[in-house]
Amino acid sequence: MSKNIKVKSVLDSSLVEDIPLIEVFVDFVTDPRNISKVVLELNARCPTPELNHLKRVKARQVLLFPSADIKDEEVFSILKDKGFPVDLLKNEVHRVKVAASPPLVRQQYVKCHSAWPCNFHADKYLEKLHTNTLFQGEELKQISIFMDIAEEVGHYFCSSSGVVIVDPKINSVVAVGFNERPELTIRHSIMVAIDNVAKTQMGGAWSTADNSCDPKNENVNLNGIPENILVKLKEKYCSVNFGASVFTPKNGDPEGPYLCTGYDVFTIHEPCVMCAMALIHSRAKRVFYRMPSVNGALGSLCKIHTVKELNHHYEVFIVEEENINSSS
Ligand SMILES: [Zn+2]
Repeated sequence: MSKNIKVKSVLDSSLVEDIPLIEVFVDFVTDPRNISKVVLELNARCPTPELNHLKRVKARQVLLFPSADIKDEEVFSILKDKGFPVDLLKNEVHRVKVAASPPLVRQQYVKCHSAWPCNFHADKYLEKLHTNTLFQGEELKQISIFMDIAEEVGHYFCSSSGVVIVDPKINSVVAVGFNERPELTIRHSIMVAIDNVAKTQMGGAWSTADNSCDPKNENVNLNGIPENILVKLKEKYCSVNFGASVFTPKNGDPEGPYLCTGYDVFTIHEPCVMCAMALIHSRAKRVFYRMPSVNGALGSLCKIHTVKELNHHYEVFIVEEENINSSS
């Protein structure tokens, strides 16, 4: 039995939705040989900086200005008032809908461009996020394994939600979390996992460290993973590394970096608002989840990771897996 794994980005609505359209006035150029002159005159006398993403010309038509509350028959007198040589135009003013803001991804560009030609420079990384092609082959398998470990952690502690925090630099599970005691309302699996990361960095509020360093490797700190589950996980996932890099405070500064700087978080359930904010405060790099939650803050109820006003943003992905019967 193998798996078909899809990792879908949870993106800001500005990247997912169509670009809003606005109406502009357009007219035909009398003589096509005058197109450059018309464009120069329009740019000088009727600049439209808010529409800089649009070309001024489409075949023999030129974009004049946004229609706003202006009547068609007023357009020529406005042009004349601005000193534009109106004899260069056919006086067949009409309205066209164009993109109100620059397209951000190719899919938006194709739609905008079909309405009126526009400029677009694709951001390769953003395109991969938008087309859900950022992760391929082995990376997808690795994501699926970390998700399985998160599920295993949850089952082991009889909790429906397990969490695994990974340092991608050393491709190692740094800490795990599970909904330890549901009656303690803030000890959600992610909060526990973050606290367990703190234990690998000389911190942690909720319980004492129990593993210290790996007896076989003094460069690995295992404090983020309770010993009972660590033994099971090492046995079942023998290809996976466990433990954090040993934390060394710089220049005697016990604070060090933020807790989850550069770390990836794998959680079975979409985090709630509290947990999503805790991951922002601790500077997580990427968050992967399998199951959307009604009160989820990373796609369902809201998208906290896309709030521009916050001072840190992580990327969010939904992991969808489907078992494929290899004999079929
Ligand atoms: Zn939570």
